[in-house]
Amino acid sequence: MPTDCIFCKIARRELDAAVIYEDDQCVAFEDLNPQAPVHVLVIPKKHLADFGEADVADAQLLGHLCQVCEKVAELKGIAADGYRVVVNKGALSGQSVFHLHLHVLGGRPMDWPPG
Ligand code: 5GP
Ligand code: ZN
Repeated sequence: MPTDCIFCKIARRELDAAVIYEDDQCVAFEDLNPQAPVHVLVIPKKHLADFGEADVADAQLLGHLCQVCEKVAELKGIAADGYRVVVNKGALSGQSVFHLHLHVLGGRPMDWPPG
C-alpha cells in the first residue's frame, strides 16, 4: 500500500474516518463532504489507482465491492428505496482521490443525467 495515499491511510486506520463496515478486503466510511443524506465510500484495502487498474485477477474483489455497496445501503436503511453507485475514473469524471472507491449515494431522489 502506498504510504502517501489518503485512502490507504484510512484503510490502515492511520487517518480518522467514520467507518461503518470493514472486512478482510474492504472498508466503507462516510464521505467527508456528503452530496446526499447518505454518502458512503467503499474502498478495497488493496491499492488500485482507479477502475481501469483493476484486471481479471481483481474480478472477485470487484464483485465483493458491489455486494458491500448493497450491505452499506441496508445498514443505512436505503436499500429498499434505492440508491446510486458512482465510480469516477480519470480527469473528465472529476476523480480527485486516486485510490479506487465506489460512492454509495441515497436518501433523496437522484437526477438523471448526472452532472
Ligand atoms: P472522487 O471525486 O475521487 O470520485 O471522490 C473522492 C471523494 O472522497 C470525495 O467525495 C471527497 O469528499 C472524499 N474525500 C476526500 N478526502 C477524504 C477524506 O480524507 N476522508 C473522507 N472520509 N472522505 C474524503
Ligand atoms: Zn491507496
